[in-house]
Amino acid sequence: MQYKRRRKIVFDFTETENQKLMIKSVKEFCDRYLTSEKIREMDDKGHPYPRDIAEGLCSLGIVMGTVPMEHGGSGIDWMTQGMIAEVIGYYDPTIATAAGFMAVETGWGFTIDRYCSKTVREKYIKPAINGEKFVGIATTEPGGGSDVAGFKSTAKKEGDEWVINGEKTFISGTEECQKWGGGYWINVRTGPTLPEAPHRNMTSFFLPIDADGVEVQEPYRDAGRMAISTGGFTMKDVRLPEEYRLGEVNKGFYYTMEGFDNARLLIAFSCVGVIQRVIDEATPYIKERKVFGRPLAKYEAIQFELAEIYLEMEALRLMAQKTAWMQDIRYQEEGMPAKTSEARTFKPTEVAKWISLIKWKGPSLALDAARKAMLWFGAAGYTKDYLLEAAWRGVMSYVVGAEGGLNIQKIVVARELLGKEFIPYK
Ligand SMILES: Cc1cc2nc3c(=O)[nH]c(=O)nc-3n(C[C@H](O)[C@H](O)[C@H](O)COP(=O)(O)OP(=O)(O)OC[C@H]3O[C@@H](n4cnc5c(N)ncnc54)[C@H](O)[C@@H]3O)c2cc1C
Repeated sequence: MQYKRRRKIVFDFTETENQKLMIKSVKEFCDRYLTSEKIREMDDKGHPYPRDIAEGLCSLGIVMGTVPMEHGGSGIDWMTQGMIAEVIGYYDPTIATAAGFMAVETGWGFTIDRYCSKTVREKYIKPAINGEKFVGIATTEPGGGSDVAGFKSTAKKEGDEWVINGEKTFISGTEECQKWGGGYWINVRTGPTLPEAPHRNMTSFFLPIDADGVEVQEPYRDAGRMAISTGGFTMKDVRLPEEYRLGEVNKGFYYTMEGFDNARLLIAFSCVGVIQRVIDEATPYIKERKVFGRPLAKYEAIQFELAEIYLEMEALRLMAQKTAWMQDIRYQEEGMPAKTSEARTFKPTEVAKWISLIKWKGPSLALDAARKAMLWFGAAGYTKDYLLEAAWRGVMSYVVGAEGGLNIQKIVVARELLGKEFIPYK
């Protein structure tokens, strides 16, 4: 057994002038429109997501900012988009804005743009970039979400059209999509399910929400992330022309995994913002609040927890930045802008491993930070006077399942460590 020394990599995550400018304008917007009072109001009122805020964020060029300029986006890199997600996660720790709205639209809008026809781009992607429409992802079905290849919806070719039948559940933004117009990335089976390779024979389409045969159901009564809806829809003999197909027939699984990577990366960045917000909310409180005659902040039990949360946030931020750096290099090969001149590339599965590490740890650490801070606040932490409980409820959505549950992230990591032959469900 011999220790293998990994190549030394020099990271430089110093903000560029362009990043500084973009972050400044996002902060100015958030200071004005995503105040604590507004977030509380959005959380109390629930969905649909406020249209003016969505349009305002879009006007900054930061929703689907990674879409190339020639397709209507801002052509920014993932590092910049991630830094923006962190800022928004800070201002809206319920993560309805950061993760529910921005990460879904950006992660999936960008991926749809990569594989869609000119028609879909013109009719849906460009308007969604401007805040006129909503686009999202609909993979989960009543039979389950973790098993991305285990879905039942089908598409059969009839003449020039595909006829689609099936059902999707727990889909972010169904109410917003219905009200604003737009549609979803869907996966359907275009051939038999092969027991040894269920991910084959899966094709992706763009489904306009107002297509004939689509019936949208009432949104669920979610526990958190209240400002954006989660709902479902059925598809009965929905006819889609070829130009609504995303990428090649039977390759949908691979494109979908790419889409998950893009969205998960931004969710992790949002969680860095949430943890920073928890620290900033809690620090003045524990310095002020006295128990047994002394401020809470004087007790080591509290200090140790604060220090642990701080460590975890800094580690998560560094990991998220390293992951964005890898993601930029991965896409740089395809002509996207990146901040590095590093002449190297990464296997997509290596990048996916890092993305799963931060998607697993990001929401878990943010949830834990919010829970600990709620305890420091005592009964006050259990009230709606502070955003801690709303952060705790919101972040939980990304722990239980949104964009893939915890165990699924661990399976992705273990696959890279052990090899594909050890994937448990094969
Ligand atoms: C607020 C919210 C928004 C969402 N938005 C969307 C959306 O926009 N689009 C969309 O398609 N879906 C969406 N989802 C659904 C999400 O993708 C699923 O919740 C997720 O994939 C898990 O699927 P499931 O809920 O069916 O749980 P299941 O697949 O039934 O899994 C249940 C539990 O078992 C664990 N598990 C699964 N497989 C294994 C295994 N092999 N080993 C060990 N443990 C395992 C899971 O981690 C999970 O904890 C959303 C969910 C939420 C909560």
